Order: sequence, then structure tokens, then C-alpha cells
Amino acid sequence: MGSQNFKKKKFFDDDSFLSRKDTKKISKKGKKMFLQLRAETFRCKHCKKEVFLDSSSTKHRNHCPYCLYSLHVDISPGDRKSECHGSMKPFGLSLKIDGGEVMIVHICQKCEKLNINRISSEDDEQAIMNIFYESQNLNDDLLKNIKNNGLILIHDEEKIRELLYGKK
Ligand SMILES: [Zn+2]
Ligand SMILES: [Zn+2]
Repeated sequence: MGSQNFKKKKFFDDDSFLSRKDTKKISKKGKKMFLQLRAETFRCKHCKKEVFLDSSSTKHRNHCPYCLYSLHVDISPGDRKSECHGSMKPFGLSLKIDGGEVMIVHICQKCEKLNINRISSEDDEQAIMNIFYESQNLNDDLLKNIKNNGLILIHDEEKIRELLYGKK
């Protein structure tokens, strides 16, 4: 139980998460309640919107539903062990290797690591499609990086719409 809280707290060490000023104002007991109520939101570093970490369609949100940017906090998915904390830019859509699920491909703007992330039902539809359109004109270095990571970008717009929204 304790370690679970610690892990969560560690994730919020970043400036963009809970404001320390807010939490200082309340008593210890109140603070605990406050954290339980508020710990699941953060302010997106990229678009500055307030984001709820809990999502109905994924267990733990790892990117902003509005601009789809993420933070480089994981070494392996969900472990929060990366010290990088760079901003991860969404730049393409790929299929999950073991199935037909569409994944967002992110690249860290600090260390250039690639990650793939599940799309959640709250993610902005237009933002996803914008990533798709932009991904049709990537530079060779990025394409090589994608290939080296065993990922295949999707280039078929109809297929994307069908997989994501069940429409053509
Ligand atoms: Zn955002
Ligand atoms: Zn990084």
C-alpha cells in the first residue's frame, strides 16, 4: 500500500503536476483526502489543459487526450523509471504487432526514444487524424528509427477510420 503511494507521488514530482502551494494549505488528514481526490489530474506540459489520469478505456492515461503529447517517464511501459522526463511528441499511427489495435507512436524530444501507446476513447478524434496526416511526410531518419523499432506506420486513411471509429 505504502509503495503504491510512493510510486504515485514520484510521478507527481514534476512541476506540471499538483501545485505544492495547494497541498500545503490543508491539514494532514485533509491532505490525504485532497490527494485522493486530486492526485489523478495533471496539467499537460504541452497544451496546458487539465488532464484526468484515470481514463475509462485505459487503466492509466499516459498521454494528453487533447494534444496527445506524453512525457518520457517509463523505461518499460508503466514502470515510471525513466529519469528523462522529456516531452514526447505524437507523430504517427502504427498497428500493434500482435493485433489490429491502432497505437500512437511517440518520440521523445529530448532523447529520441520511441514509444507506442494505446489510444483511449477520450482522445481527440481530430488530433489523431492530424497525426495521421502529418505522418505521411516524415524525414528519412525518423522513418529509419521507426523501422529499427519494428514498427510499421499506417498509410491507409480509410483503414484508420474503420479501425478507430468503425466508419468509412
Ligand atoms: Zn495536452
Ligand atoms: Zn527521453
